[in-house]
Amino acid sequence: MSPTKMWIDNAWVDASDGGTREVINPADGTVIARVPEATAADVSRAIAAARRAFDEGPWPRMAARERGTLLFRVAEAIRARAAELAETETRNMGKPIVEAEFDVADAAHCFEYYAGMASKIHGETLDVPDNALSMVVREPVGVVGQIIPWNYPLLMAAWKLAPALAAGCTAVLKPAEQTPLSALILAEIFQSLDLPPGVVNIVTGDGPTAGGGLVTDPRVDKVAFTGGVDTGKLVIRGAAETIKRMSIELGGKNPNIVFADAADNGGFETVVDNALTAVFLHSGQVCSAGARLIVEASVADELVAELATRAEAIRIGNGLDPSSQTGPLVSAAHRAKIEDFVASAREEGARVLAGGCRPDDRELAKGYFYRPTVLDGCHRGMRVVREETFGPLLTVERFVDESEAIALGNDTNYGLAGAVWTRDAARAHRVAAALRHGTVWINDFGPYVPGAEWGGMKRSGNGRELGPTGLHEYQEQKHIWHNTAPAPARWFT
Ligand code: NAD
Repeated sequence: MSPTKMWIDNAWVDASDGGTREVINPADGTVIARVPEATAADVSRAIAAARRAFDEGPWPRMAARERGTLLFRVAEAIRARAAELAETETRNMGKPIVEAEFDVADAAHCFEYYAGMASKIHGETLDVPDNALSMVVREPVGVVGQIIPWNYPLLMAAWKLAPALAAGCTAVLKPAEQTPLSALILAEIFQSLDLPPGVVNIVTGDGPTAGGGLVTDPRVDKVAFTGGVDTGKLVIRGAAETIKRMSIELGGKNPNIVFADAADNGGFETVVDNALTAVFLHSGQVCSAGARLIVEASVADELVAELATRAEAIRIGNGLDPSSQTGPLVSAAHRAKIEDFVASAREEGARVLAGGCRPDDRELAKGYFYRPTVLDGCHRGMRVVREETFGPLLTVERFVDESEAIALGNDTNYGLAGAVWTRDAARAHRVAAALRHGTVWINDFGPYVPGAEWGGMKRSGNGRELGPTGLHEYQEQKHIWHNTAPAPARWFT
């Protein structure tokens, strides 16, 4: 049974006004839990607890190695509850159970990575005259407000909390209102490991009140946000008033560029197979989804026909059914947005080669399902090509030469991720260098590792998560100068 209270200052609490929010299973529309809807007063209490834990508590003061030891135990505890976490994730947000299992494993890896980093925090000394010492030390930023989206509820919580805790920060984390359950299980894990009071607080609530409270409160030193561009702009504006440190991770419109020479054994099985995963995994609700297929014109018809056939064959269903290859969209409102995108694409001249509608399976009628959709004949002027849809929609554009492929790949306000498929290694690296995206895959789509920085250029955000930079984002650098032989300066004599 999932927890149904919030975690503030090491206590399970209700909202101060008793308000709750229903948590829905998007596969069938059923209510699976009720969680507190935090009021401004609740958020303020959580911030006060985090502030006290940072200003007076042991967490930022203990040896970083000890923090690392606890984070290793968090990873172990996540693994011990892996089945429960995965099932909760699938029931709460619909993704196939096998994907949820990957997410849980990745969350444990993330805690382990930063557990190891904690024991490697160090500063620098500088070469200065021998009557002085000059050193730059790294210190925790302080109290961090962390706001995450619904598409990877547990993994995003791990990406946020693990580096912050390794650095010695204290945190108030706000999960997305649709998907609070796995973060609350994480709170149970912190409770079981006796994390000191106030170090981690999980407040469940809406964007403007709970998220907005974290963004504007002067007691919060840094806000780390992952979500959509429009919300990101609100967060940046809100945090400006108190000059907060900020990490902003936003959406993507990610090109998947295929050259004719990417064929294997005369066909495109590998490319097609990976292009399907790139865009239809998790019904396209992935910030780095390969939603724009940009393919060399000479092979496009053959490749796209194969792709459409394979897309039609994808098995849609409840994520708890192991035979389901993809699940529902997170909510009815999100599916309505996807339907609107398809309608506008049709109006603008796109040809629907696969999907383009809800599944007609009556068993799925109560869930928010939408079929994997391939839209051919697309161009940069179309809304479906320019905007992040965050759904199971693949648009196909054609190019004739390398420079056009690069121009199309960069013709977006986003800059999160992209891929290039070619057997010409020199070309692969020319294109990778020219693409203005924070991650570029060559002959692959999707892999990431905790040790490599993740984040966006342009309107996909600022800052980086993961890797050493992910830790540095939660640290201040302080220069300490120590004059070891003080004497009058005599400037004014
Ligand atoms: P969203 O922007 O609607 O919500 C994200 C979070 O912000 C939620 O917790 C929400 O409650 C909160 N929020 C809403 N209004 C707020 C406000 N006024 N002040 C403070 N917080 C507020 O995004 P979403 O629909 O949950 O997630 C989808 C988006 O997240 C997509 O654009 C996707 O690309 C992006 N995303 C990016 C990455 C990345 O690594 N760059 C990873 C996952 C998702």
